[in-house]
Amino acid sequence: MEVYACLHCDLLQEIPALAEGEVARCFRCGWLILQNRPRSFARPLALLLAAVILFALFQSFPLLTFKKAGLEQTAHVATGIRELARQGMMPLAALVAVTLVFVPALYLLSLIYVLVPASLNRKTPGMFFLFRWVRVLAPWQMVEIFLLGVLVSFTKVSAMARVEPGIALYALGMFLFVTAAATAALDPQEIWRLWSKRH
Ligand SMILES: [Zn+2]
Repeated sequence: MEVYACLHCDLLQEIPALAEGEVARCFRCGWLILQNRPRSFARPLALLLAAVILFALFQSFPLLTFKKAGLEQTAHVATGIRELARQGMMPLAALVAVTLVFVPALYLLSLIYVLVPASLNRKTPGMFFLFRWVRVLAPWQMVEIFLLGVLVSFTKVSAMARVEPGIALYALGMFLFVTAAATAALDPQEIWRLWSKRH
């Protein structure tokens, strides 16, 4: 028996260990407090690995290709950041680099660092500390805002030149869905339960 607080109405209640597939709801309000999803680490982990591949794709392939009068220019994430910095827009360049490169990379690596040992029922140094911070980090990955920005500029530039979306743009769109699915598939309670488990 362990004591859990209902996140909806704050009622404290004792809940026995759940069998695979079982759920525990609040006595008072019926809020879902705990669930034991079958093989719960395999799915988020598989999605995270897919996200790593998509991340590599959108960092290394062209985002957009501009074509005008026989001239062709491709834009990558990295060249975009460098171009912003070159034009004196340092804060914007830094913001794009943080939200599009550093935070997503840190987010993926940290979650994998936590989930790989967790799926083997093992603990590694710092994994719980990291897991707590990764959830603080999550709102700072603003890939979707960048994607929106690209689409807005896409419609503006397309009046002047032919613009073709590159592989990186599709990868970026898929990255959004895959990371959201990975986060949704992950049950944080499972990680915290591992913490209180002694080996
Ligand atoms: Zn409740």
